[in-house]
Amino acid sequence: MNENFIHREYIEGLLEDAKKADDAFISRSLDKAERFDSLTHREIAALLVNDNPEHLKRIFSVAGEIKRRIYGSRIVMFAPLYVSDYCVNRCAYCSFNCGHDFNRRKLTMDELREEVKILERMGHKRLALEAGEHQGECPMDYILDCIKTIYAMKFENGEIRRVNVNIAATTTEDYRKLKKAGIGTYILFQETYREPSYDHVHLAGPKKDFVWHLNAFDRAQEAGIDDVGGGVLFGLADPYFDVLGLMIHNEHLEKKYGVGFHTISVPRLCPATGMDIADFPNLVEDETFAKIVAVIRIAVPFTGMILSTRENHEMRKKLLRLGISQISAGSSTVVGGYAQTAALQIQSTLSPPTEDIHIKHERNETLNPQFLVNDDRSALSIICELMDDGYIPSFCTACYRGGRTGDRFMSLAKSGQIGNVCHPNALMTLAEYSMDYGDDSFRKKSAAIIEKEILRITNDDIRQKTIENIESIRCGAGRDFFV
Ligand code: SAM
Ligand code: SF4
Repeated sequence: MNENFIHREYIEGLLEDAKKADDAFISRSLDKAERFDSLTHREIAALLVNDNPEHLKRIFSVAGEIKRRIYGSRIVMFAPLYVSDYCVNRCAYCSFNCGHDFNRRKLTMDELREEVKILERMGHKRLALEAGEHQGECPMDYILDCIKTIYAMKFENGEIRRVNVNIAATTTEDYRKLKKAGIGTYILFQETYREPSYDHVHLAGPKKDFVWHLNAFDRAQEAGIDDVGGGVLFGLADPYFDVLGLMIHNEHLEKKYGVGFHTISVPRLCPATGMDIADFPNLVEDETFAKIVAVIRIAVPFTGMILSTRENHEMRKKLLRLGISQISAGSSTVVGGYAQTAALQIQSTLSPPTEDIHIKHERNETLNPQFLVNDDRSALSIICELMDDGYIPSFCTACYRGGRTGDRFMSLAKSGQIGNVCHPNALMTLAEYSMDYGDDSFRKKSAAIIEKEILRITNDDIRQKTIENIESIRCGAGRDFFV
């Protein structure tokens, strides 16, 4: 049964009260956060509305410390895969909205295989399948065919091992089919938890039903999908309201199903064709956005946080330190975009030198991206920079494949054993990536990181096994190991 568990007056009251929180209250809240004690709504609201530079400094430092202690230096890598831009909804912020006139398309299975081949060549093992909502052009059977096709593809270097899905809210029956198809996380953004703002930007279509959208994860859980990923689109409404909405949604799921969000995504509104960003008065500037990421990290320490290429290079670097644990790389937000970009690159090497910017421009005009990305570096350059900055790029998909989903993953995270599981898995997948896709200098760089980081595995047996497995990967005797 649909339930509206978001009470606007309650959240607005919290934010109003939070303005009166004194320094001692904020300091006490941060002391609690440092001890991993859960924070009350009042405390989270006080951290959000506060603008005192001293408190902000401490918020950033506590968030960074939590990030380091729980996630170490691992960053999980993924890429989006847009399969269809047909959509019956009129979301004012999105280029795929049905009022925007452009040449729509969906991938044939051959085109899909082409996209997946390119993504695999970048080294990706984890994809997020994306589509607009359209029962006629993009029914559930089409999505299921896509998932089946992706999982059936085998390459010299393995395969795509986890397909997460970010498609419109649907019925329990359809969620059952997705579960059966073996999806990883089911991701859906509430866009905004403030109902009048939600109503204002969702002009028409099934998505306009706030409560139907809000209860999507309940239906997914009832269908057996226990890894669900929430998020809001920052820029549509008061961002502090939306952070509290996320927390309340998370608690609702924890209470009802024993586990909250597996991940929280933090997309921020970007320019797109078919919309004018100047029409959105609640855009969130960089410093506030950084505070929001840090407060979410503090409020839900064990929930993974996902950042996409909507953010630019500089912001991504900063937010990785404050709590982000998973990022996309080498992304395209166009249906068929990976193949078309590859074709344009070949064309530009054959014809007289074209500036990158012209390629991008042409791409954006002839194709229709859902929004314009702000970090268009290649996956390889992002991965190299992560290593230069002391991170371990991880291609791990072990939990989902080992059945460690839902509350089983959360208990692992909370038990502090993540370092003996995710950490070795990250190192083994990095070793595999370096053998499959790296040149000599990449292998040298990653070997130095692996050598140093392997010593941080505290369990002797697991450390020894990891050393042996990495040796097997290097000499080609084995691959795809995980704890
Ligand atoms: N169509 C489904 C839906 O709306 O739930 C699936 C997700 S859609 C492909 C992916 C997400 O992109 C949306 O949930 C929305 O938050 C985000 N998005 C849409 N327009 C955007 C824009 N202009 N800038 C940044 N993100 C945007
Ligand atoms: Fe369609 Fe999703 Fe875009 Fe809305 S956000 S117009 S539902 S693709």
